[in-house]
Amino acid sequence: MEKDIKQIGDFLGTIEEFVPGDGTYTEGGRIYASIMGNAVVNRENHSVRIEGRMPVELKVGQTVFGDVLSVNKNVVTVIVKKIKGFKDEVDIRTGIYVSNIADEYVEKPESMFGIGDIVKAQVIKIQPGMIDISTRGDLGVVKAFCKRCRHPLEKLDEKNKMICPNCGFRDTRKVARDYGHVLEI
Ligand SMILES: [Zn+2]
Repeated sequence: MEKDIKQIGDFLGTIEEFVPGDGTYTEGGRIYASIMGNAVVNRENHSVRIEGRMPVELKVGQTVFGDVLSVNKNVVTVIVKKIKGFKDEVDIRTGIYVSNIADEYVEKPESMFGIGDIVKAQVIKIQPGMIDISTRGDLGVVKAFCKRCRHPLEKLDEKNKMICPNCGFRDTRKVARDYGHVLEI
């Protein structure tokens, strides 16, 4: 038995080498970690599994909540902290590609998210080294903070328009339909 800590998407071996076990997924004959934890290789039955440090496994289709870490031209980086339906906190780096922000074309991601905002999104793709989430449809920011004074913003009636009740600053976000409903993070 050998132990080695892996991140989600880390390559573990091929299906010729191992039988994929719990906490793994395969793609094109290659085995990857689907959860964070210790890779446990059993040389006797030629299996590899991940012994989770987190009891939660991220899957496509799950609703997740996370904090915006950075906003770039093509991608918004979100650290997922909660997966809907699971009590335990997680800490998973994910990205929203500009095309996955909204149903309509978004020119500037920075006009839709602010650093530190809390986002509700859906997991749409898990592949080695990259987890894509989406805020299309009803998803988006559930709590946003004023870029001037950090006070929480309030949603206005007009689509994606927000205002700071503290300093009056007006801004825009990709606002979730249920803005204000944050799973405890
Ligand atoms: Zn403000």
